[in-house]
Amino acid sequence: LSDRLAETFKNLRKKGTLSASDIDGTVREIRRALIDADVAFDVVKEFTSRIRERALGDEVSKALNPAQQVVQIVNDELISILGGEQRRLEFAKTPPTVIMLAGLQGAGKTTLAGKLAQWLAKDGHTPLLVACDLQRPNAVTQLSVVAEQAGASIFAPEPGNGVGDPVRVAKDSIKHARDKQYDTVIIDTAGRLGVDAELMKQAANIRKAVDPDEVLFVIDAMIGQDAVATAKAFQDGVDFTGVVLSKLDGDARGGAALSVASVTGRPIMFASTGEGLGDFEPFHPDRMASRILDLGDILTLIEQAQQAFDEEEARQVAEKFATDTFTLDDFLKQMQQLRNMGSIKKMMGMLPGMAQQRDQLDNFDEKEIVRTEAIIQSMTRAERTNPKVLNGSRRLRIARGSGSTVTDVNQLVNRFEQAAKMMKTVAKGGMPQIPGMGPV
Ligand code: GDP
Ligand code: MG
Repeated sequence: LSDRLAETFKNLRKKGTLSASDIDGTVREIRRALIDADVAFDVVKEFTSRIRERALGDEVSKALNPAQQVVQIVNDELISILGGEQRRLEFAKTPPTVIMLAGLQGAGKTTLAGKLAQWLAKDGHTPLLVACDLQRPNAVTQLSVVAEQAGASIFAPEPGNGVGDPVRVAKDSIKHARDKQYDTVIIDTAGRLGVDAELMKQAANIRKAVDPDEVLFVIDAMIGQDAVATAKAFQDGVDFTGVVLSKLDGDARGGAALSVASVTGRPIMFASTGEGLGDFEPFHPDRMASRILDLGDILTLIEQAQQAFDEEEARQVAEKFATDTFTLDDFLKQMQQLRNMGSIKKMMGMLPGMAQQRDQLDNFDEKEIVRTEAIIQSMTRAERTNPKVLNGSRRLRIARGSGSTVTDVNQLVNRFEQAAKMMKTVAKGGMPQIPGMGPV
């Protein structure tokens, strides 16, 4: 999705004034990009007709920069479909807060239970995971593995009690949580490969029995055009208060997000981006819209960096950015720390413009870090502290010393300068300027 739209907007931005046919052409491209991204057809139709109407109106013809105004409109409308403001979890006034998970088998419910538990525990909560998937033989074991990884407790039927009754287990778990003072209860439920009446009834009965504060519908972002039918079936059968998009780390670029949010009117609350328990983040509609529009997801990037870095270190780095004393040594240290942050590719993918550089991203690997290390380590202390002194002969010496080429050295210095500039803007509290876009 990003690539197509980015291309469309790039062409649009080259223009000073827009004719009706420019707008029609752009709207057609947007429609095609959304359909390619598996956004449901009805949603696409509604979305593009709203864009067209606004783009032909006064706000664009009177704008200083009409093309930019059109991009702004698309951004606004995307945010609005995705739910506007970020929606946070509702906690019960009297604990425990009960969160129930629902969705098809394989959607990522059990994994999400662990992710939520770990995330809540970090925030000082005491979550209890409840095994109400008694359908699959392995489901309880899987949940207990996940609970252990998350450092959370689990509530499951006693083994040997035959097939347990999930409604009963759910009810008992609330009492258990009250007795043992767990402040959040996360109920994992069974799923089927397809929407199925019995499954719906079971989930609805669990819901009725425990009256959860939140019912989260978990949906695989790769599900494509089936997203709408599945979401509607769960809305009719169980109903839910929020949506969690899982497997956003795959090729899906947000098509399901648009469809589900638009068709159900329920906010997307979290995004799952990998199999690990840390691959999880609150969903920010504005950031998703920017990601779709290829502005990059700077804020998410920084939040993840802050979580992975020690806070004091993060403060020092921010200070260095703000005061322009960020050096190549700091850059190297950061790169090394990035390795602890999970997939580097994922991090790079959030930087502006990166969606168009997928090939380059795929080549960004450990070897690149090793090469960067070699280059920086071939520099003198003075050069690392103040890269401005790096003239041609110094660059040649460094290239020889590190077994790389002057082009490699130049690229590294350029990357460093761009990163320092971008981070400085962010550290000062602003969004970075995207060329041709103006401030966001
Ligand atoms: P459930 O049947 O709904 O409980 O789904 P599971 O939690 O068992 O997940 C099904 C499979 O998807 C497992 O192999 C998970 O590791 C995987 N999975 C879950 N969430 C994600 C995600 O966000 N990204 C990726 N890549 N895999 C995921
Ligand atoms: Mg499961």
